[in-house]
Amino acid sequence: MHSTRRRIAILPATAAWLLTLSAVSAEAQLPEMKWPPHDLTRPRPPVVKPAPAGALVPSPSDAIVLFDGKDLSAWQGESGGPAAWTVTGGHFEVAPGKGGVATRQGFGDVQLHVEWASPAKREGEGQEPGNSGVFLMGIYEVQVLDSYGNETYADGQAGALYGQYPPLVNASRPPGEWQTYDIVFRRPRFDAAGKLLSPAIFTVFHNGILIQDHSVLVGPTAHQRRPPYSAHADRLPISLQDHGQPVRYRNIWVRDLER
Ligand code: MG
Repeated sequence: MHSTRRRIAILPATAAWLLTLSAVSAEAQLPEMKWPPHDLTRPRPPVVKPAPAGALVPSPSDAIVLFDGKDLSAWQGESGGPAAWTVTGGHFEVAPGKGGVATRQGFGDVQLHVEWASPAKREGEGQEPGNSGVFLMGIYEVQVLDSYGNETYADGQAGALYGQYPPLVNASRPPGEWQTYDIVFRRPRFDAAGKLLSPAIFTVFHNGILIQDHSVLVGPTAHQRRPPYSAHADRLPISLQDHGQPVRYRNIWVRDLER
């Protein structure tokens, strides 16, 4: 009798304690970064020759088509206003100096298909030729660069999560040829107070070859630094970078993984 009463007395306290535990959100653990940003001694990924480019990868029935070869109606200028890039011959092209473009619609978790080509005539070296970028939520960059036999720091070449993760391999096609990125992106989660609950995670295929395998970002991608996460909306536009090079894009579609 005595022991039963004790058990009854303890139960509510235990339940309350468990409730408290679940109400306190655990802060996300971030991976340790062994290499400083853009370290020139960081090993370059091995080169893997992709299969030749095939036909356009058609969008599945549940995809939102962001560019079908005709117009930039799904896009606007990075800081508002119309997208100033040129549409011609089924693709569109960075208008150097006119700024980036961003989707009118915001996205969180997505599967994103992008096709791009750096200029056939290479100009400059390192970070110059064919530099652009696919920014998820306008914040987290998958680098676009002509990395075909073009040396640069490992975390800045094509398919790098800029300044953090080099691609697993260099799967680049020669300049001027169409290349594909297939990106699976999980957005970071924040609690109501702005604390990071889970980080941004990328899996990326370049020309059909796995180059990012569940890579966990330590914060926004940036040049020469690794800023910490800063809480933001659950859905933000996908943007493409104007880095002063006439990089081309075509056949862009996205599957919203949160609908
Ligand atoms: Mg870039």
